[in-house]
Amino acid sequence: MIFIPNKTIKLTVLTVGAHCDDSEIGAFGFLCRLIREVGAIVHLAVMTGDNRRRQETLNATKYLLGVRGDCLARARVHFGGFRDRALYRAGHGPIRFLERLLAKLQPDLILTHAPGDLHDDHRKTYDATVSAARDFHGTMMLYESPSTKPNEFLANFFVELGDEELRIKIGALRKHVSQRSRPFMSDEQVRRMAQTWSIFHRLRQNCRVEAFKMEKHFWELSQPLFAGGDAIQIHSATGS
Ligand SMILES: [Zn+2]
Repeated sequence: MIFIPNKTIKLTVLTVGAHCDDSEIGAFGFLCRLIREVGAIVHLAVMTGDNRRRQETLNATKYLLGVRGDCLARARVHFGGFRDRALYRAGHGPIRFLERLLAKLQPDLILTHAPGDLHDDHRKTYDATVSAARDFHGTMMLYESPSTKPNEFLANFFVELGDEELRIKIGALRKHVSQRSRPFMSDEQVRRMAQTWSIFHRLRQNCRVEAFKMEKHFWELSQPLFAGGDAIQIHSATGS
């Protein structure tokens, strides 16, 4: 079990993606649980994307929020406006964009790409996130994508997904209509990706998880570990 400090009543999460569907692929099951189980406030930072892709992200986020219809203010999307496949040309722009977001949002948890990735935009987004978060003392985790290098992604935090979380994740990905022809966006491939890790960690058959790498985690004196029912308990495959 992992206990997130007792700020969970207003836990603020910032997930950073290079493209409009990255957070959905890597972390929407986790976000779904955080919204449902602790009422988290979720912010998505999307570095690139034209108007069509942006609308698809907004549609996916609305679908995610459908898990709690009473909290439509619980998620916001922030677009960086940088060019797709050209983040390397943006200089310090992505860092400044994320610095402003971090200062404004004061998140407790940051999710971003892993650095070992075949896609240059994903690597640049990781670099920008860790640079912008150099003074951040909460929890930062890295999520995987279909272009993650498997021999460089040392996952050590696993969030189990139930039928409902998987349904929401797949439903949100379907909102990215322009990407439906990509093999990794198929419903079946999303299910297979969620089942892969359970084999290596001897979880029960058909157990589905999202995998993360803990980048850094601080437990400061000002943060009580947990108190009563306010604590979030997340199933950790490494502890099973
Ligand atoms: Zn991407």
